[in-house]
Amino acid sequence: MSLANGRHYLAIPGPSVMPDRVLNAMHRAAPNIYAGELVEMTHALIPDLKKVARTDQQVAMYVANGHGAWEAALSNTLSRGDTVLVLGTGRFCHGWGEMAAKMGVQVQTIDFGKQGDIDASQVEDALRADGDHKISAVLSVQVDTSTSVRNDIPALRRAMDQSGHPALLMVDCIACLGCDVFEMDAWGVDVMVTGSQKGLMTPPGMSFVFFNEKADTLREKADCVTHYWDWRPRINPNGYYQYFDGTAPTHHLYGLRAALDMIFEEGLDNVWARHEKLSRMIWAAFEVWGTEGPMQLNISDPAKRSHAVTSVNIGAPNGTALRNWMINNAGVTLGIGLGMNTPDDPNGDGFFRVGHMGHVNAHMVMGLLGTLDTGLKALKIPHGEGALTAASTLMARS
Ligand SMILES: *Cc1c(COP(=O)(O)O)cnc(C)c1O
Repeated sequence: MSLANGRHYLAIPGPSVMPDRVLNAMHRAAPNIYAGELVEMTHALIPDLKKVARTDQQVAMYVANGHGAWEAALSNTLSRGDTVLVLGTGRFCHGWGEMAAKMGVQVQTIDFGKQGDIDASQVEDALRADGDHKISAVLSVQVDTSTSVRNDIPALRRAMDQSGHPALLMVDCIACLGCDVFEMDAWGVDVMVTGSQKGLMTPPGMSFVFFNEKADTLREKADCVTHYWDWRPRINPNGYYQYFDGTAPTHHLYGLRAALDMIFEEGLDNVWARHEKLSRMIWAAFEVWGTEGPMQLNISDPAKRSHAVTSVNIGAPNGTALRNWMINNAGVTLGIGLGMNTPDDPNGDGFFRVGHMGHVNAHMVMGLLGTLDTGLKALKIPHGEGALTAASTLMARS
């Protein structure tokens, strides 16, 4: 008998769980896009988005998903024939680099593998080796959503500074803005991209490019920039339509307003702390399961794990089997093992991911862990006992 009926829980790393408050804010008649409340509300979103990114620099908004923000960041700063240095720590930064290559940009890659984080000293060496400063930008992800690694962006910045190289530091925070600590200005990030549908708890369809003056100087000569992606009119619109180069994403804006209100009511520091604590509860459970069986967190060092997503290896075909069991019997959908394929596991069936970004609290995490424990038993996958106790003990020790 299935016990899946009831409120479904989408526990994948984006789109994340949407708060009812966000959904209710969107449930309204079409607003006027020429004057009035929507226009005022949009102006007011700008300083609040900057608060979440911890920056006093600029933000351009797009009617696009994260891939759109990637293209916007590249096209405003690069020219055909320029070079970017891609720091691969999983699927996502490679994807950003592939996009740059299709735009006519040369791509140099350092690959840190599917379990590694960025080694800043290798980046420093690569930049020192580029004596003529051919590299225009370094592309990185703060969190790679496929491996769940969290890169040390301040260390990357220090390495770039030590090399004396002028390349821009571009960081993809699509997975983790509003989940993992991020300080755009204090960390010296030149360009940061993010989307609406993960930590910002709003449906997919809006994305954001934050950039500083140094990045805007490159915009001057960037020949990849096209009318639609140009960030200049968007940060300094002559008319309301220029914020989005056309019709505004009216209902998304109401949803985003509600989501930002929720973040500020809780306090961004508290939001970060909640994500950290919930992550530690999840890891505690997985570590106990792993003591007697195949379950393994993909990133072994807790200091290098994201607080937004956790990638797990349980061996093929157990990953897919457990995901299917959770959907069919418990009403929980876990993430697939994206980009974690190996020759002996061509479909990534050994992996799954837990999204714990945005609108997630303790009872959701404890429920998820309880159903996972049940799934392991139902499928007779060997595992250590006491995972839930480990998680609840950690939670109680506040
Ligand atoms: C989700 C994600 C993307 C892609 O975003 P889309 O909205 O699916 O285009 C890119 N980078 C990272 C790190 C992500 O988590």
